[in-house]
Amino acid sequence: MTNFEQSAFGDQPANIPDHPNGDRAAWGGHGWPDGVPEHLLATFTVGRQRVTVTTRREVQRFWTLVNLICEEKHGYEWRAGECHSYQNRRIDGTQRASGHSFGLAIDINAPANPFSLRWVSDMPPAMVADLESLLMYWGGRYRNQEFDPMHFTPAFGPGQVAEMEAAAERILGGRDEEDDMPQFLVARHNGVDYAYDHRTFFPIVSEQQYDKLFDGRLIVVPHGQAQVVDDALIGFIQGEARRGQAGQQPRVVASL
Ligand SMILES: [Zn+2]
Repeated sequence: MTNFEQSAFGDQPANIPDHPNGDRAAWGGHGWPDGVPEHLLATFTVGRQRVTVTTRREVQRFWTLVNLICEEKHGYEWRAGECHSYQNRRIDGTQRASGHSFGLAIDINAPANPFSLRWVSDMPPAMVADLESLLMYWGGRYRNQEFDPMHFTPAFGPGQVAEMEAAAERILGGRDEEDDMPQFLVARHNGVDYAYDHRTFFPIVSEQQYDKLFDGRLIVVPHGQAQVVDDALIGFIQGEARRGQAGQQPRVVASL
């Protein structure tokens, strides 16, 4: 599994508010020990692996967009059974409220991004930069305590949710106008199928991935009948797939 050096992430952006667990007062003060009232919480499913999370209702759509940034732009799937969200608890061994008791934070892929004195993270640095541009506090930035790179918290208040949703949509790049279009085309080259979703390219390397795509998405090419396209396009797709793996933004071609 990929592990990125801490230095690959640079410095925390200067405009991140100093609310590593969210601005509790701005969100009405709810959290441990009483927890967040149930009517303020939403439980929903995100991502290709259908990860179930619970957050404040106000940030459900925001977090859904964040998941799309991780998975669709950066090819970083949230893994089922490895993500944590709302939990009304204190920090282990202390009397302080856990950031998870406010209903804002989500831990993404805990085993590969452990709470630890030793730095371990498989988060693509370009993805972390995108999330931090949305005023998310990242546990990978903790100082003088264990690193917690699985942990992200919106560090803004409810008044900024709409602004951050709009910023997330800009990162995703014109997603809304593409909603009516087929979401995937598939191209086969040298026995490897590549899926293209109008924004990113990625190789489909297993039947299981195929099943996931067909299960969760609108696909224009039936299972097992990948469209064969000309070599110039294949070369482009492979080049873009490499750019995606390197954490760069793939270019989008309108002709597909
Ligand atoms: Zn956490």
